[in-house]
Amino acid sequence: MPEASPGPASVPADSKATTTARKSDSFAAKLASLPKAELHVHLEGSIEPASVVALAARYGQEVSEREVEARYRTPDFVSFLEAYKWVTSFLRQPQDYALIAGRLAEQLLAEGVVYSEVTISAGVMLLRHQDAAANFRAIREATEPYLARGLRLQWIFDAVRQFGARPAKDVARVAVELVNEGVVAFGLGGDELSLPASDFRDVYDFVAARGLRRVAHAGEIGGPQSVRDAVEQLGAERIGHGIGAALDPNLMAWLAERGIPLEVCPTSNLRTGALARQLGTASTEDATLRRHPLPLLLRSGVTINLSTDDPAMFETRLTREYETLSEMGLTEGEIVRVAEAGFTGAFLPHHEKTALLEAFRRQADLLDLP
Ligand SMILES: [Zn+2]
Repeated sequence: MPEASPGPASVPADSKATTTARKSDSFAAKLASLPKAELHVHLEGSIEPASVVALAARYGQEVSEREVEARYRTPDFVSFLEAYKWVTSFLRQPQDYALIAGRLAEQLLAEGVVYSEVTISAGVMLLRHQDAAANFRAIREATEPYLARGLRLQWIFDAVRQFGARPAKDVARVAVELVNEGVVAFGLGGDELSLPASDFRDVYDFVAARGLRRVAHAGEIGGPQSVRDAVEQLGAERIGHGIGAALDPNLMAWLAERGIPLEVCPTSNLRTGALARQLGTASTEDATLRRHPLPLLLRSGVTINLSTDDPAMFETRLTREYETLSEMGLTEGEIVRVAEAGFTGAFLPHHEKTALLEAFRRQADLLDLP
């Protein structure tokens, strides 16, 4: 377990990250000091190269940081999934998960995150015949101390779409068992184009009836229909990515009206080739941030929150993702709205959400943010 930094360990969550920036500071500095929420981050995508090296060594394999970096640099979606599979092959026991969870918590704190819903690929654990509940308890144990340092965490159990409905149901059963232990939602990731949403309808009904919230990756490499299906057929309350919705003005209006937020991860979209696919260009060089549909989605009234997706694999951090918003031409007011949407979209009890939102607004006012 990493040592606690010499920060203000006893400071309550609502005053975290409020000490550094002043009114006269740059917008970027103010943004860095705002308390933030991150709703779309995969635990297994957060493993820094040095941690992969350490994990591989536990199993007698010599891997260099350079090799990890090379594997993480993926040109398209299929090779991204391959890299994901490779890195998760070093996660074999609860203590491996405890290690990476503690390190992710450190990374989140360093980015000024006070609340996060972290996705766990429980579908991969079950595929490898692991005890997903035992892994999860080790994750919980490793991260509970971070609450006292101002980081509140909840967890999303993710099934892998291309594995099919039956393995997804197995993930759902484990998630439901852990509903009172910090698992707040059930999700679906992996290859969006492999199987239709309708295959998973029963699984989503099952989790919803047992108190879990529902999310799904859709419109990442798929089109508008995939996003619509996730909402209509699976009851998804938030959409992972959803950038394919930008191709359909009616869908954008429909999402805006229903208040379904999209969890947008710009750097991820560049690195997996998802943006290139959405733009219909074979070359990832043509798929630049300036062509990202986030501004269009936001200005069409769709609620957008911002995340890193797989920060280690994509060599990004949440503050870097906020910089991409400026590069896309968003105004300061729009960027602050995106940050606020991280809290409004949280699956938290009303009083906790209100407290976090109030702390966010207080700090934004203090810094004279729009
Ligand atoms: Zn994701």
